[in-house]
Amino acid sequence: MHKLIFLLFVFTVLLITLHWQFGEKKVFQISPDKFTFVATNDQVQKGASISSIAYTGDAAILNCELKKSPDYQWPYCGVSIKINDQDATQGLDLSDYHTVRLDVDFIRLDSTQKPALRFYLRNYNPAYSKSDDEYTFKYNGLDYRQADYSQVLNIPLKNLQVLTWWLVDNRIPIELSGPEFTNINRIEFATGSGSPEGLYQLRINSVKFIGYYIHKETLMFCLLMLWVSFAIIFSVLEIRESRHKALESEKRQLHLQHLNNRLKQQNIQFSEQAHRDALTGAMNRHAVREWLETQFNSYVKPTEELSVIYLDIDFFKRVNDEFGHKMGDDILREFTMVILVELRGTDRLVRWGGEEFLIFCPSTNLKQAYMLAERLRQKVELYQWMHGQVLTTSLGVAQLGDETPQEMITRADELLYKAKHAGRNRVEAGELDNS
Ligand code: GH3
Ligand code: MG
Ligand code: MG
Repeated sequence: MHKLIFLLFVFTVLLITLHWQFGEKKVFQISPDKFTFVATNDQVQKGASISSIAYTGDAAILNCELKKSPDYQWPYCGVSIKINDQDATQGLDLSDYHTVRLDVDFIRLDSTQKPALRFYLRNYNPAYSKSDDEYTFKYNGLDYRQADYSQVLNIPLKNLQVLTWWLVDNRIPIELSGPEFTNINRIEFATGSGSPEGLYQLRINSVKFIGYYIHKETLMFCLLMLWVSFAIIFSVLEIRESRHKALESEKRQLHLQHLNNRLKQQNIQFSEQAHRDALTGAMNRHAVREWLETQFNSYVKPTEELSVIYLDIDFFKRVNDEFGHKMGDDILREFTMVILVELRGTDRLVRWGGEEFLIFCPSTNLKQAYMLAERLRQKVELYQWMHGQVLTTSLGVAQLGDETPQEMITRADELLYKAKHAGRNRVEAGELDNS
């Protein structure tokens, strides 16, 4: 972008410099080798003046004898340069030029008086001109008196005026009465009006039109436009770019958020999975191990009571055998729910393996745990299981004494074994024997 601004800057400076150096140098030269120079005089109007033209190098020389005639009051002679010999309607568009530069010598051969010179740019416009009537070509001109012909004459085109008598004679409407240079078909020189009789010589060394390739105002306007459009394009692009960036980052943000949410969900799932038994949703051994070790190990005196109930479904093998493994799974799930609804929020139900469960009951002594175990035993026995058969469970209950939680669990297991041996569908509880 900076490069572009720099380039634009260089381009601007270059253009202004070029214009300053060469911008005004548009030159159009009218020379005898390209255009027809014709000697004119008043003889067409029954005058008596005589004129002839000769050429030396690039210059055209008019010799003229101005004579009064009883038939014509305003003797004159001059030079008419025809832009297009064949077709008077096809002229030159000189509206791009601001100055006509005349290098002419005009003298009287029989007097030291300085002669006056008329100069005309004749414009053809079908609105008022007829191609076969020269008089209808508009006279943009001026009458030059006391001119110093030793110097080059620079005449601003805007100083040329339309002759009043021509406007009147041709009944030109106001809107067409101004100077016009869009279709110049004749360039004319003539002796000044009211010039005295005598011998005149007009030497036309060169006729040049000077113009701008581009007007300074136009150039400045174009440059301004260029900068303004550049600024607009730049701003639009900038806005689009930043909007695009904002959208992009919003998208990325959303994507990241989505990803984050999924990760979080997965994490929750994973940690849940790590702590829960996949089949029943009860806790697994791992989930309670840490809790048991920190809260209830024998080296740090436990601050609260803890009891455990060891459950084992009676003859569960038969359920599988009779109703299939899938039914066995469903009943394990149902069993978990039936037990869970009987527990407090602080109790922890753990699937210890197969059809064996442990319930850890904090702030519970052996008696309270026994009562809970008995309630659970009855509930299981009376519950309507989905396979339509009676299901029973045997339970071993122990309270944590001066031992590790693992030792307590082992004792509960032994009490369960005792319940099985005693005929199943029973609760066996036991104190820690310290003897
Ligand atoms: P007991 O009264 O002596 O406890 O008899 P039991 O048949 O319940 O005991 P046993 O230990 O002989 O058999 C336990 C059965 O539990 C064996 C196995 O088929 C079944 N079992 C263990 N885990 C699952 C399980 O995840 N799904 C199913 N469907 N069955 C299981
Ligand atoms: Mg078992
Ligand atoms: Mg069993």
